Amino acid sequence: MKTNKIDHIGIVVKNAKERLKLYEDFLGLKVTHIEELPERGLRVYFIQIGETRIELLEATNENSEISGFLEKRGEGIHHIAINVEGIENAVELARLKGFKPLSDEPKKGAGGTKVLFLHPKTTGGILLELVEGEH
Ligand code: ZN
Repeated sequence: MKTNKIDHIGIVVKNAKERLKLYEDFLGLKVTHIEELPERGLRVYFIQIGETRIELLEATNENSEISGFLEKRGEGIHHIAINVEGIENAVELARLKGFKPLSDEPKKGAGGTKVLFLHPKTTGGILLELVEGEH
């Protein structure tokens, strides 16, 4: 597996439109991509900042992937995503090195990417997302 760069920082928000006052109106950044991920109960907004991005995660139903987080911790930084090549090998490699993948194989991410999350209990408190592909 090859690691390239910080792909994005994922931030859970209750209402993306409200939070865009910070990223667009104040910071002058642009939303470059919005996508619905119905199987994960999410709508994601990607905001370009230099070579990396901020991903706002908004729930579209109460059983979404972020609903538990939102309930327990409220809005805030949710994960850090690292862009990689060779994600197909990541599950086995992670297990071999003592990190716990949250799925048995990479899942479909925004924009046709493949993503794999590592459990924060095995990474020092960081929900780490590996992402392969660009959008
Ligand atoms: Zn992400």
